[in-house]
This record gives sequence, C-alpha cells and structure tokens, in this order.
Amino acid sequence: MIKVLYKNQEFDNYEEFISCVNEYFGANYWIMNRSKVDIDKEDGKFKRVQYTCHRNGKKIKSRGTGERPNQKYYANGCQCQVYMRFKKRGNGKNKYVITDLNLNHNHEEDLNPDFYAFHPKNRKLSEDQLTEITEMLKTRAKPALISNHVKEKYGINFTGKDVYNLNQKVFNDEYEFCLLTQLIV
Ligand SMILES: [Zn+2]
Repeated sequence: MIKVLYKNQEFDNYEEFISCVNEYFGANYWIMNRSKVDIDKEDGKFKRVQYTCHRNGKKIKSRGTGERPNQKYYANGCQCQVYMRFKKRGNGKNKYVITDLNLNHNHEEDLNPDFYAFHPKNRKLSEDQLTEITEMLKTRAKPALISNHVKEKYGINFTGKDVYNLNQKVFNDEYEFCLLTQLIV
C-alpha cells in the first residue's frame, strides 16, 4: 500500500510516524533533513520533529562578501516540510500528529531516482557496515570491488570515491592496492 501524508494524520507511536515519512520520502525521491528535534527531558519521548527539504533555507545570491555562514549552496527557499507534534491525551490515547504539512517543492530537477540514490545522505553506511568495509580495506581490495559488494549486499550506492575517502579517513593514507587483491574475489 502506498503511504500518504496528510494534515492531522495521527500515529499511535513514534516508530510508525518515522517509517511512514521515510517510506513516503523514498517513494517520491525526496531528500529531507530532520531539521528540528525536541525531546521531552522527563520521559525521553519525541515531542516535536520537523523534516524540511534539503533545499530549505536562504539562497546564496553571490559568492562575494556578505554571505552568511548558515546559507547553503543547494538552498533555494523550498518550503516543503512535515511537522509532527506529540499530543498527550492520557488514557492510552496519546498520539503523534502531523500538525503542519507542505508537500510542494519549488524545484523538480533533483526529485528523481538517480539523484536520490546518489545523494550523500543515502550513501551512508551503518556502523556494522563500516566495520565490514574497513576489514575489506585492510586487505587492499579494489575500490570497485568494495563498491559493487556494498551495492549488491545492501543496495547502497557507495561509490569508488566514497571508498577512497573512507580509506583516507580510516588509515590516513593514499589508496594503493597490491597484487594480492586479485586473489580476494
Ligand atoms: Zn524541496
């Protein structure tokens, strides 16, 4: 069933809300940032969460002086957002409610499968996956081999460049591989 989002939509728990928005964003190839998170200090529950489009924010007008540090390169002022508030009603009737919603983007060129799949946000690996890839790096496996492995096993577009960058981060050296690599496949 295709997930929908609408104003005043209610969820019984936070996980349900998260899986619904993530599925919706993914199905439509939207890159959204969790831009606001407000957690109740007493019970640790999420009180308010806001997702905004990755192009939300002020557009950079010029590269000259006067640029503010919070201005983002991609930003074009897109107002697409999902705002969720926790409504405490007691007696097991507590709900997570979408209280504000704007499903309109002011851009189209980056709402497609390719842009979505290759956006850095969707190329991130989990801790376990990173550990696995780091082990592969120790064997000096070729970047293309690692890249294919991640794509096949996890469906993530972890590019050869990503492999190179990870190697630099972990081992602080240039990517080199020896002939032994050929035996690893
Ligand atoms: Zn947008």
